[in-house]
Order: sequence, then structure tokens, then C-alpha cells
Amino acid sequence: MAVVTPDIHEVLHRVFGFSGFIGQQEAVIEHTVAGGDSLVLMPTGGGKSLCYQIPAIMRDGVGVVVSPLIALMRDQVEGIRQTGVRAACLNSALSYREVRETEAAVSAGRLDLLYIAPERLLGERTLELLSRTRLALFAIDEAHCVSQWGHDFRPEYLQLSALPELFPDVPRIALTATADEPTRREIIDRLSLRDAPLFVSGFDRPNIRYHVVPKNNARAQLRRFLERHHGAAGIVYCLSRRKVDETAEWLQDIGVDALPYHAGLGGATRQRHQDRFVREDGVVIVATIAFGMGIDKPDVRFVAHLDLPKSIEAYYQETGRAGRDGEPADAWMVYGLQEVVTLRSMVQNSEAGEARKRLEVRKLDAMLGYCELATCRRRSLLAYFGETLSEDCGNCDNCLTPVAVWDATEASQKAMSCVYRTGQRFGAAYLTDILRGRDTERVRRFGHDELPTFGVGADLDAYQWRSVFRQLVARGLLSVEIEKYGSILLTDASWPVLRGEAEVHMRMDVRPAAATRKRKAREAPPPPDPATWDEALWEALRTRRTELARAQSVPPYVIFHDSTLREMVARRPCSREGFAELTGVGETKLDRYGDDFLAVIASHESRAEAPAAKPPAPDTTTESRP
Ligand code: ADP
Ligand code: ZN
Repeated sequence: MAVVTPDIHEVLHRVFGFSGFIGQQEAVIEHTVAGGDSLVLMPTGGGKSLCYQIPAIMRDGVGVVVSPLIALMRDQVEGIRQTGVRAACLNSALSYREVRETEAAVSAGRLDLLYIAPERLLGERTLELLSRTRLALFAIDEAHCVSQWGHDFRPEYLQLSALPELFPDVPRIALTATADEPTRREIIDRLSLRDAPLFVSGFDRPNIRYHVVPKNNARAQLRRFLERHHGAAGIVYCLSRRKVDETAEWLQDIGVDALPYHAGLGGATRQRHQDRFVREDGVVIVATIAFGMGIDKPDVRFVAHLDLPKSIEAYYQETGRAGRDGEPADAWMVYGLQEVVTLRSMVQNSEAGEARKRLEVRKLDAMLGYCELATCRRRSLLAYFGETLSEDCGNCDNCLTPVAVWDATEASQKAMSCVYRTGQRFGAAYLTDILRGRDTERVRRFGHDELPTFGVGADLDAYQWRSVFRQLVARGLLSVEIEKYGSILLTDASWPVLRGEAEVHMRMDVRPAAATRKRKAREAPPPPDPATWDEALWEALRTRRTELARAQSVPPYVIFHDSTLREMVARRPCSREGFAELTGVGETKLDRYGDDFLAVIASHESRAEAPAAKPPAPDTTTESRP
């Protein structure tokens, strides 16, 4: 066999217009080009696609990419075609003619990449086609879908275990952004990757800023948060379909371009809403978790959770959909006692077996622990994935606005004793009335104004008591009886606290108004260099990009990312050579679009120099609405 030293750097530069690899890309690509199997764990936005695209381009034959979401394949294929790579897809959304055309292209060896849904791959017809075709590799994207313990399990993925037997000589590369240990083991096991090396990249997403705010008035809080993201694309997650519909409607009423997305909407509506989100600028999707996996939109500026995700993995994956382009983005969540109760009851009432339930409870507890942190959130998230951050991140709410911790042992004892003396039959709001000594009709009717705990908690206000109850329940020091309208109960863990054997320290929740003021003061992101920035040129370039995108009905970002346009503004290339040096400009894009954008720059330069307008803040730079 001839020894070739294919230059992966040359391909990176010529095809993709990038100057260097990031993270583990180079190692993975070398390994795959040489024909090795591997498991690749990289965060969302970490650059997984190149790990199989470059080897597929360089190796003989077609690279087969298995991906679970056929709705996204078109954009994926479109995106890679823009760089001149020959790609197509096979899925149930295609017409018979399109399928025939793609099959013919595969047979004739006219493709570098074939994207395919798992159920399709293992169909007889496709297997027959592939068995007489030269294959460069199999890339199994979203490989965690093979894990039954995971949150995105897809039964079709289990059949992928047949690949090594059917195609023993074709290298397989499994990729995922979900990295917890049990899921990882299951992927290795089910996809027979025991002897394959594992490539793990840092999971940190430094451009994402994490915030968790105690719930006060969720809508008002969301509204205030959205003011900072005016005109930007984002996702708002809710647990139920009804809440999705109601929230989307309310957002429309207050002038946000919001659309609902959940499994209860018809397929056509879902597709339409997703298309608008991907192809237009500044659309906000309100969704259940049914939305988002594999969405490639790079310029999502925020992800907001109105309900708690069920696990840290789910949270990290959902928040990870923000800021794939590396520009500042926000992950924001409101959270209160009610959310804890709802999720706990969902776990308890689920049909799952005992072992599964225990696992779900553990995952939920880890999620609650994250919410109640008083220390750096990024450190804790990364630690959950087995990574250590040597110092606090400086880009999460707790770092930006340090949280005071207070000794809540006495308050906890008062709360617990109040629960005990009222017979474990009441909810947090009523217990708070007793603790604060409120003389209400209900309190008197039950004779609770006679209790020794009546009024012993007058030193804290209702907001603070709500925080105490929430934190006690989150830590399992109290529990909530879901069947009985949210009655608070003691747990085994309550007794050491009541007996004075255990201390309780809690975060001192910052009241919303104060929190906003502090945040604003630190918020201003660094503006582009005013010496080179030119707002009018920027707008002109974006307009041209939108026109080109519309003409081909593709999303604007597949032509060029915002960051490439920004480089055009800063460097104002005036020749094809200069244009080719921009990040994200490879051979094909230079040919296709170089002259277009050079013309925009040239005609702009020739105009009288208008005084430069104010540069936009990086987190509001989405394309202008056509
Ligand atoms: P993932 O699939 O891991 O979420 P992608 O493959 O979509 O990530 O890549 C995320 C973004 O990073 C894309 O916009 C891509 O163009 C960019 N990117 C990937 N590799 C490089 C690189 N070596 N240099 C510059 N940008 C890159
Ligand atoms: Zn931090």
C-alpha cells in the first residue's frame, strides 16, 4: 500500500477557508484519514463536522453521515455544498425521483458525503446500494441517541451495531456533545467501539453566560431579560405544550417575533416555524425539548428556560444551542419551588422501573444542586462532566454578582417545626403566614395563631421564606407531597437539623431589581474597534448576503458567518487575493461570492466617506430583517 501523507491543513484552508484546527480536530482527522475508528466528544459548536468532513473528502469513496433529524439534513447538505463539497442526503422527505438521483450519484462515485437517517441506512435497498459502493467512512452523529439511559434515545440507533459486521473495513467515527460517563460507556458498548480511541475536547463554552434567577414573576422576569436581546434569535424552553402555546402568544402580544414549537403541532407547522427560525433573523422559538437537537443555527443569542430541565446533561445540551459562533450568548433560567414539585411528581408518576426512577431522581437532584449554587456555575457544570476549571469563570451570575451565603440553621428549624406542628398538611405559602404571624381568617380557623411557631419568623419577609422553603426542598431537607396539593413534609434528613446536629447554609437570593442594576453596570460588551468599524458598510454587506441567500433559498449564515462579514468591514479587501485571506473563505466561496462582496466594498469605498456610525454591540449583531 502506498504511503500517502495527505495534507489535512491544505484541505482545511482551501475548502473551508480556516487557518487552523481547533481542539482535538487535527488528531481526530488524522486518525480517521488513516482508517481508524473513534469516539469523539466535543461540545456543541466545538467543530465536530470537520472531523468527518475532511476525512470524507480525502479518503476514497463516499462518507456516510448518519443523523437522526431529517428536517435538518437539507441545511446541513446546503451548508457543506457551499464550500464546493459534493454532498446529498437520503431520507423519507425526498421524492422518489430525488432518491433515484442521489442513488445514481452514489453508484457513480460522484459524492463526497451522503447524509442519511438511521432507519434508511439499514433498509435493504440502501444496504444493497452501499455494499457495491466504495465507502470512505461512517460518521454517526448525535451518537448518544443509542443510549437508552440518555434523554434522546432513538430505537433506530440500536441497529447501527450491525455496521462493523456488515462493513468491517470502513472506519466509524461516533460523535456527540453529551459526555457523561454512563452514556459514554453505552455508546462504546452498543456501537462496538471498545478498541477505538476516545477524543475528548474541553466542554467549556466560555462565551455562554449562565444565569439562574429565583422565580418571582416569571413573565416579568423573562420580559426584562428579553429587553437585552432585542431583535436577536433565541429559544425559550417550557415543559408543557400548553405553556409553550401560552408563552408564545404572550410574547407576540408584547411585540416579540415568537413562534411555538412542540410535538402537538402538525408536522407542516413545525417545519414552517423551524424554517423561519433558521432562515430569518431575530425569531424567538418557544418550545418543548422536542426542538433543537442538531439545529445548526450559529447565531442563537440566548436560551431561556421557564422550566427546569430534568438533568444537567439536558440543560447543558439545551443551553449549548446558544452562541455556536463563539460570540457572547446568554443561558438564562427562572426557577422556583413549583418547578421542583412538578418535576419530582413527573419522575414519581412515570411508568419507569425502580432503577430508572432512582437514576432520574439523582439527575434531578444534581440539577437542583446546580440551581442553588452560590459559587461559580461553570466550574460546577464542568466538574459534572469530569473537567476542572482552575479558577472561577467570571462569566456567570454568581461570579459577576457574588452571592452571600447565610447560616439558615435557625430559620430551617423554625420552618421544620412549623411543618411538624401543623401536621404536615400545608403548603409553603400558608406556612409562611404562620411563621410571619399573619392574622388571617384561615390561620384563626385552624387555631394556628395559638402555636408556639406563630410569628417566630417575623424577621424574614415572604420573599425570604419562599427562598428558605425552596432550598430546603431542593436539598431534600423537606419534601413535597404531590398528591396532597403540595403539602410540605418532613424527611429523614430533617431530624438532624431539628435536633441541632446539622447546620444549614443557604444562598441569599438577590431581589430581582437589585440584581438587574448590578448586572447592567457590568454588561457593556467590548464594541468593535471604532477605528475600523463602518456601520454603513456592514449593513450593505448583510443586505447583499440576504439577497444571495434568498436567491438560493438557504439560510444567510451558510453563505458567510457574521464573523466573516465583520472581518470584511475591518480589513476591506480590494482584491481576490485579499478576500481569500478572510476566515471562512475557501476556494469555492471565493469563486462564488468574492466578486459580489468585493463590489459592495469597492462601491462603498468610492462614495464620499460618511462619518462612521456607532458600532453595534457584538451580542446584537444579527442580520437585518429583509
Ligand atoms: P458542532 O457540530 O460540534 O456543534 P460545527 O461543526 O457546526 O460544531 O462547528 C461550529 C462552528 O465552528 C461552525 O460555524 C464552523 O464553521 C466553525 N469551525 C469549525 N472548525 C473550525 C476551524 N478549524 N476554524 C474556524 N472555525 C471552525
Ligand atoms: Zn463563574
